[in-house]
Amino acid sequence: MRIDLHTHSTASDGTDRPADLVRLARETGLDVIALTDHDTTGGWREAAEALPDGLTLVRGAEISCIDDDGISLHMLGYLFDPEEPEFARARELVRTDRVRRARAMVERCVALGAPITWERVVEIAGDGAVGRPHVATALVEAGVIDDLAEAFTPDWLKDGGRAFVAKYEIAAVEAVRMIRAAGGVAVFAHPGASKRGRTVSDATIESLAAHGLGGIEVDHFDHDDDTRAHLRDLARGLDLPTTGSSDYHGSRKILALGLHTTAPDAYEAIMDQAHGVAPLTG
Ligand code: AMP
Ligand code: FE
Ligand code: FE
Ligand code: ZN
Repeated sequence: MRIDLHTHSTASDGTDRPADLVRLARETGLDVIALTDHDTTGGWREAAEALPDGLTLVRGAEISCIDDDGISLHMLGYLFDPEEPEFARARELVRTDRVRRARAMVERCVALGAPITWERVVEIAGDGAVGRPHVATALVEAGVIDDLAEAFTPDWLKDGGRAFVAKYEIAAVEAVRMIRAAGGVAVFAHPGASKRGRTVSDATIESLAAHGLGGIEVDHFDHDDDTRAHLRDLARGLDLPTTGSSDYHGSRKILALGLHTTAPDAYEAIMDQAHGVAPLTG
């Protein structure tokens, strides 16, 4: 069983349509794929309709959060009811603020001399939840920078960078509570991704566990070996299952689908906690 529990499509900042993503997943030899676009379930239907024989789709989302120390983090939610009103409204708030903040970042880029436009960023984002990778793509197209990685530096869009603007993020404890209240299960995405900015303390992870966290993503491209060992110890102490996943974004990142995978027993232990919607098998 090859299980990849964290991927992105054009419903957020990935480059593959949901239908193409599930086809690729089967071609790549995956048995289970979770679709976890940023703050949206917008890709669920297309992925479900295109689901190839033998592939299981876990419907999810990756929620933009902030902890009590003011540190941004990502919370994966799986198998929640997309119609549950409180959590649906919370995701909508984040998406609406993503638009305001992307416009503001474009204005900052323009003020810094970059010849990009909001109209073009909207075209690049298409029907996906707009984010920094879309603004970054516009910067590359305009020849301002050579590649997307250069956009995520202090010169441009990295947290605290010259053109960075913060967005509304949900208090992490609230996100865990809402995911669960909608029948889902919450897994902390790449808690030790230190290249992106400050990472949360162990105390934050322990507090989230006390508030109903259902698992911790350990095997991830942004985690070095020491970080993985530390998170594995922490998870064991908290009696939480651990996952591995690719965080695939299509051509926007170099990460191959199935780069990391989750063990079947951990997969079962996580999905057993959820009942909002069921995994779908094609
Ligand atoms: P946003 O959600 O709009 O704040 O944008 C964050 C997204 O940018 C993440 O989900 C990643 O997909 C992407 N990202 C973050 N750091 C990098 C990086 N160094 N290179 C390329 N993409 C990145
Ligand atoms: Fe992303
Ligand atoms: Fe993430
Ligand atoms: Zn992700």
